[in-house]
Amino acid sequence: MDDRSELERRLDTLYVAVRDGATIDRQAAFDIAMNYLEYSPLHAEARELAEASVADDDEARLASAAAAFLDARGYEPGFEQAPERFARLLRALDAVRADMRATGLTGEVRLIRPDWNPRNAYVETWAGDTGWTGGIFPSDATDDLSALVAVAEQARQAIMESLEYQSTGTVWPACPAHGLGTSPEARHGTGVWWCNGDDGHVCAEIGHWPAYQQYRL
Ligand SMILES: [Zn+2]
Repeated sequence: MDDRSELERRLDTLYVAVRDGATIDRQAAFDIAMNYLEYSPLHAEARELAEASVADDDEARLASAAAAFLDARGYEPGFEQAPERFARLLRALDAVRADMRATGLTGEVRLIRPDWNPRNAYVETWAGDTGWTGGIFPSDATDDLSALVAVAEQARQAIMESLEYQSTGTVWPACPAHGLGTSPEARHGTGVWWCNGDDGHVCAEIGHWPAYQQYRL
């Protein structure tokens, strides 16, 4: 285990303790703060964390110092530390499945965290395809709408790969009016499949693709 992953692991532990209101390991908190102060000696949140970790019997100060430090450092929990984020992705995938069925696709898709990049989640299709970008980061799933758009985009890529778009030109999901591929976007607080045809338009809400609008090649 290298230094960075060891530090990340200690930050994870600190995050979970703060989240659960559990007792924070003062020595660990102190070490984390000092590690950071080596590189950024004037960092206010790190200094406060170091001081709070050696101040006796002030759990509230230590907890708030730890929370402020994690925030200042831009700490992002992974799916292990924030399982509610993965749950959001699972719900989002149900919406995408509805659009698959509405457009006549019968294959299965699922969310995986592959050995080659276990921090992120990928949509894997019936044919084993996972798209061409880096998957879904835990930070993509901090709210329902972001999670929905991220899952829809990963599903779109993976499904197009399984439909062999590179040789067949098949796009998914295709706009019924233009036959063009659509992309998931957040618009006015809603996740939609957006088509760039004409001046651009909404094809459908994600999860509500009308079955009768299926584009037929
Ligand atoms: Zn269109």
